[in-house]
Amino acid sequence: MIHPATELRFVNSDVGYGVFARETIPCGTILWVLCRLDIVFTPAEAAAFPPPYQPILHRYAYTDGQGRVVLCWDHGRYINHSCEPAMLGVGNDIEIAVRDIAAGEELTCEYATLNPTEPMPCRCGAANCRGVVGCDDLLTLWPDIDRRVAAALPRARLVPQPLLAFARDAESFWQWVDGQAPLPSCRDFRTAPAASLALSARSSATAGRRRGGP
Ligand SMILES: [Zn+2]
Repeated sequence: MIHPATELRFVNSDVGYGVFARETIPCGTILWVLCRLDIVFTPAEAAAFPPPYQPILHRYAYTDGQGRVVLCWDHGRYINHSCEPAMLGVGNDIEIAVRDIAAGEELTCEYATLNPTEPMPCRCGAANCRGVVGCDDLLTLWPDIDRRVAAALPRARLVPQPLLAFARDAESFWQWVDGQAPLPSCRDFRTAPAASLALSARSSATAGRRRGGP
């Protein structure tokens, strides 16, 4: 479930749709949670869908750190990638704002954390744009991603959290926020290569929350 103060907007014919903030959203706000309405498949279940379904899964579903294929039920599935993302994952089931987000700004995430199975050209416009989102980018990006999450997380206690009621494991989230449990590293978001490759070979599924752009 994506934050309620967001909406779907058409960006352009190249990017397609994106998710934008309708009001200022402060750093530390939970922007997305894996909620009970989101649809979660095992890799085998995703691969078993008939061929006409596979491009849809490829475009809109992603593979999380537990190997689950997740299809967001709401406009969260349209979140685009940026090499300077506004939101990053805290564990597998929650993403938070890692900086203040202005009203009208697009919410973006880091597709490298979502187990892409094929490289994707990127024209996100960030100063540090990698040009391509590669399948193994997380192997080099994880220290910086972990640092950004750790820096933003203490803000979580200071800002409204309208999505918290929908989190599957809010207790663990607050333990991470309060330093009572070790913060998971995004290194662990990467599934075993064999699992990802098996899914890719059978179904071409996975690649991200919304695999159309930028
Ligand atoms: Zn980029």
